[in-house]
Amino acid sequence: MPRPAVFLDRDDTLIANAGLPAGAFAGGRAGDLADPAFVRLLPGVRGACAELRRAGFALVVVSNQGVVARGGATLRQVEATSARMAELLADPDHPGRSLLERVYHCPWHPEGTVAPFNVEHPWRKPSPGMILAAVDELGLDLAGSWLVGDADRDLEAGRRAGLDAARVLRVGPGTAFAGLPEAAAHILRSL
Ligand SMILES: [Mg+2]
Repeated sequence: MPRPAVFLDRDDTLIANAGLPAGAFAGGRAGDLADPAFVRLLPGVRGACAELRRAGFALVVVSNQGVVARGGATLRQVEATSARMAELLADPDHPGRSLLERVYHCPWHPEGTVAPFNVEHPWRKPSPGMILAAVDELGLDLAGSWLVGDADRDLEAGRRAGLDAARVLRVGPGTAFAGLPEAAAHILRSL
C-alpha cells in the first residue's frame, strides 16, 4: 500500500534563512544557506514533523538550490547543510533515524554560471520534477499527499505534480498558516 507524503520546502519552511548574517556565505545571495553551522530549525518544526510521521506520512524535502549554479556554494556544501537539518530532525520514536525520509535538491538554474548546473531542469520549482521523482522512487501515494511551502513556486510545483489544490499549503507571515506547526495541525485535523 503506497504511503502518502508531506512534501516540504526547506528554506523558511523547515529552517530559518531570513535574517542570516550578511556575508555569511561568500558568493551567496541573501537567504542562501550553505553552511551547516548556520542551520536553525524554525519553532515547532521538529514536533510537527514527528506528529506527521506518527500519522503515517513520509516526509520528503524538495528544495531549489540555485546557489550552486550561481557559484555561491558547491552541491556538497548544500548537501552537508541539509544533512545537518536532517540530523536536527532526529526521530524521537526511532533512535538514530531522521524524521526526513529523503531530501531532494535542485542545483540547476538557467541563469547560473557554473556548468553543468547552468541549465533549466525539470526539477526546478515551479516545475514538479522533484515531487514526481520522489513519488516514483519512494512509491508514494500522490492522491493522499500534501505540500507545505512558503513561496509561490512551491505551491505551483505541488499543483503541477497533481496534488489536490486544497492539499497545497502556504506558510509564513500574512498567510493562513504561520508556520509548519499550524499547517501540520490542519493536515492532521483533515484525516
Ligand atoms: Mg522557501
